[in-house]
Amino acid sequence: MDWYYEGERKPENWKNICEAFKKAENTSLQSPIQLCEKTTEKFIYQKSLATRYQLTQFETSFFNHTVHLTPLANEELNVLFFDYKKYILDDIHFHLPSEHQINDESFPLEMHLVHRSRDNELLVVGITVLPNKEPANLEKYRLDSLALNPRISGRGLFVPVDVAKLLPLKMQYFHYTGSLTTPPTIGPVDWIVFKNQTYMRKGLLRAFKENVGKTNRPLQPLRNRTIYLSD
Ligand SMILES: [Zn+2]
Repeated sequence: MDWYYEGERKPENWKNICEAFKKAENTSLQSPIQLCEKTTEKFIYQKSLATRYQLTQFETSFFNHTVHLTPLANEELNVLFFDYKKYILDDIHFHLPSEHQINDESFPLEMHLVHRSRDNELLVVGITVLPNKEPANLEKYRLDSLALNPRISGRGLFVPVDVAKLLPLKMQYFHYTGSLTTPPTIGPVDWIVFKNQTYMRKGLLRAFKENVGKTNRPLQPLRNRTIYLSD
């Protein structure tokens, strides 16, 4: 089923497109949300977060209105452990502007690192991005050419990405339970959204803006859920 960010099939109307989309919205708490430090709770006990990422070959593709990077070959190369559970990195993609807001602030871009456990449980890491004049993490990995022409490059462009270098330097994070932000917006999804930003060269950010464009779902009601903030 086709869906869009604007026009008749915009996010507010996704639930009317088909039964599957409606069911997903009605049966789980939705994402993205506003993440406010003031209204978070400290973890009663800190859930441990550890990443084991390394330089990996990814294959590019363009679907759901944005650029995706899928790891090739050995899926165990990029793993995350949250609360002692293991999740394997499945997909990296980009939203513009950011979907989550942090302390009422929106950012030019948000990266989603989608992970799955062996039992198919979803955990998504959200990283918000700010522009930087200096060459930063990303462009070393040829994301420039990818972002400049994602529609043409389509599937089949291979890019090496050092996933660890996409993370912000300070690893303080919000944690809450929500959903995928594209239809069907199923849940539950464990969200880890870093409080601090990572940086991308201005030109690359502009290229994403020109070639991908608006791809953010509006903020969803918080309802009755707790947002945690790590130390
Ligand atoms: Zn996403």
